[in-house]
Order: sequence, then structure tokens, then C-alpha cells
Amino acid sequence: MAVVAPQIVVVGSGLAGFGVLRELRRLSPEARLTLVTLEAGHFYSKPALSTALAKGKTAETLVTSHAEKMIAQLKLDARIGREAESIDRTGKALCTTGGPIPYDALVLATGALPFRPPLEGNAAHRAISVNQLDHYDRFRKELPDGARVLIMGSGLVGTEFANDLVTTGYKPLVVDMLPLPLGQLVPLPVGEKVRDALAAEGVRWHLGRKILAINYAEPGPGYVATLDDGTSIMADLVLSAVGLRPNVALAKEAGLDVGIGIKVNEHGQTSDPHIYAIGDCAEYLHGPSAYVTPIMAAARGIAPTALGTPTEIRFPPLSVQVKTTLFPINLLPPSRATTGEWRLQEDDTDGLKYVFVDTDNIVRGYVLTQEKCEQRMDMDKKVGETA
Ligand SMILES: Cc1cc2nc3c(=O)[nH]c(=O)nc-3n(C[C@H](O)[C@H](O)[C@H](O)COP(=O)(O)OP(=O)(O)OC[C@H]3O[C@@H](n4cnc5c(N)ncnc54)[C@H](O)[C@@H]3O)c2cc1C
Repeated sequence: MAVVAPQIVVVGSGLAGFGVLRELRRLSPEARLTLVTLEAGHFYSKPALSTALAKGKTAETLVTSHAEKMIAQLKLDARIGREAESIDRTGKALCTTGGPIPYDALVLATGALPFRPPLEGNAAHRAISVNQLDHYDRFRKELPDGARVLIMGSGLVGTEFANDLVTTGYKPLVVDMLPLPLGQLVPLPVGEKVRDALAAEGVRWHLGRKILAINYAEPGPGYVATLDDGTSIMADLVLSAVGLRPNVALAKEAGLDVGIGIKVNEHGQTSDPHIYAIGDCAEYLHGPSAYVTPIMAAARGIAPTALGTPTEIRFPPLSVQVKTTLFPINLLPPSRATTGEWRLQEDDTDGLKYVFVDTDNIVRGYVLTQEKCEQRMDMDKKVGETA
């Protein structure tokens, strides 16, 4: 009797969805692969969104492979612009706006949703979060030449956008409750240097401050933001970069275990072994990990497991390049559970090198700046050996 190829359904066409589809197709030319996505199904690299202005990219030119090409290459049954609404776990079917789709294995790659801080004011809803291609399209279309751009948040994304905007002739004004940029990622002296390097080029920082309200400017155009010390900031556009929350709605409604993200085991399986989660929506055993490297690693574990060969996900050191060209940084943040301290190891004309050392004196993370970024691979290897 002929064996029927498994039917694997993937929800989401971001790096995680396509990452796992690529691995599935590489391992199984015959598997029946279905993609369900709310987006247009084009392939692009999301990290490129926060360096796109300096590279002269538009939403169209950020696309590296159009949907038709991805569908043909990966031999997909693609349901573009469709919403996955619920999961019938007993009948093993994904219920979508286009009808139910049966599955042998279901992969949730639903990403994360921008957090919207509670703000007063008649224009609070006008803040743009750039977390998808079409968000970027709106951002570009609403951005007047030389505009003053108020950026809410000075984490990785906010600081990278400030760098991108200031190096292309715009006037970024950044507000954050923390006293320094990248405050949750790097030691204080590195944050000070980032602040100063970007300020020297024209970034205006309002640190240790909170935005209370955003109103339309009168007379317009533009907006006026009110801070908690009474300061008013005028801007032509407001960019929100205050963080993302894993998109767990489908999983929660289906009764899967959910913590911060959709909880998965060492194979990427949720509390239902026929359903997997990957990418920004997932919470791995070491916690959520909203970066590219863990997605690729998880795809290499989930694809063979979903095809019937249980394979443990092996995460490499999850280092990140902060794309602040005015003050380059490579970093490997220690996991949330690790207690320890940052220690300065090198401080010279090439830059700074910090290591994060745990209570057993083992290096669990690092921060390299400027020319020291060249040590990234050596440091990844070093931390990988002790992991
Ligand atoms: C500006 C920016 C810069 C970044 N820079 C870096 C970097 O330098 N290095 C790094 O490692 N990481 C970086 N990241 C993080 C990295 O890009 C993300 O971790 C990664 O792209 C997440 O991919 P994903 O596929 O999990 O999610 P997403 O790309 O958000 O994809 C989610 C998909 O799910 C679909 N979807 C959701 N719900 C449904 C539903 N119910 N039905 C159908 N479809 C649904 C959406 O339409 C979308 O296609 C950056 C992120 C941003 C925003």
C-alpha cells in the first residue's frame, strides 16, 4: 500500500514560517506543505527594516523573494491573506477564514504583536510600530523629508531606527523611561557611549522620561507629545518601539500551555505533540528568544521531528549585531535566569569589551564595541564551549 506523504500546515510567513518550510522541503520532497498567512507571503529579512533608509530601500525593494517564487520553490499550497482562526485539536484541522485545513502536524509561527502603551491624547493611535513590511510601507509614506521623528523606546529597535534616521537627514527624538539607550542589554558605560555617539550626529535623547500623551499639534500638521516632567516635544511622525508581545491567541484559545509565549519542549512541540511553535511566538525551554539565530536552530529541530524523526533543537550562542553604524556593537545577552555581573576586560582605542560572568565565574555573555566586534566569532565559540 502506498504511504501518503504527511500534511504539514504552517501558520505565518515570517522568518520562522519560511525557515521551517525550507527545512521541511529540504528533508522531504514529497511532504504536503500548506502555508496560511495574513501577509502577502513575500520573503524579506525583518532585521533589514531598521537599516532600510540608509540603504535606500522601500517596502518593495526589501522583498528578496516574491510570494510566487517562494510558492514554486517550496512547492506550497499557499493560503495568502487568510487568517487562522482556531484549531480543532480533536479533528486535527486548522480553521481558517477560507475553511478548515486538515493537518498531521501544525506549526505555529505567528510572531509577536507590538505592545501599545496606554497613552492619553487625541493622536495616541497615530504612533506607528514597524514590525512588518506593510508597517514599514506606511512609515515611509508618512515620513516627510527631513522630518522630526519621535521614537518611543530606546531598546534595540528604537536605537537602530534613531541611527538610521539621523544618518539619512531626519531628526530623531528618542524618549525612554530608562536612563540610557539599550538599557536592558548592555553595561551602563556602553549605553553612555551609544547615547553620546548618536547625540553628536543630532539624535535628541529624553531619557528617564515617560510620554503621557500624544495630541495633534494646533495648528498642524504634526504632533505634540507631553512628557511626565511637563516637557512638550513637537514631531512630524511618531514611531513606537516599546516592545513586542508573543502572539499566543490561537494557542491559548486551543488550550495549549502558554507562558510569556507558546511553551515548547526540546523538539519545539507544544503541550499537544502534533502542534509546534517557532519564532517570536514561542517560549523555548530557556525562555522566549525573539532573534533570527534561534529561529534557524529551531527550524532544524522541528522539521525532522514533524516528519517523524524526533530531533532535539540545538541552540548555538545567540549573539546579536546591533546595527548602530555610528557605534557598532555585537552582544550576547546572558539568559534571563543567569545571575552574575558585567566585567570590563578591554578598554582602548579599538573599543570596549565586557564579559558577563556568572556566580561560578563562567562567561555567559559579552558586549563588544567598534573594532572589537571582530572578536564576535571567537567569543561565540568561547561561550558555546561552556554552555
Ligand atoms: C526592526 C527590527 C529589527 C530587528 N533586528 C534584528 C537583528 O538585527 N537580529 C536579530 O537576530 N533579530 C532582529 N529582529 C528580530 C527578528 O527579526 C524576529 O525575531 C523575527 O523576524 C521574527 O520572525 P517570526 O517569523 O517569528 O515573526 P513575524 O515575522 O512577525 O511573522 C509572523 C507571521 O505570522 C502571521 N500570522 C500571525 N497570526 C496569524 C493568523 N492568525 N493567521 C495567519 N497568519 C498569522 C503574520 O501575518 C506573519 O506572517 C528585529 C526585529 C525588528 C522588528
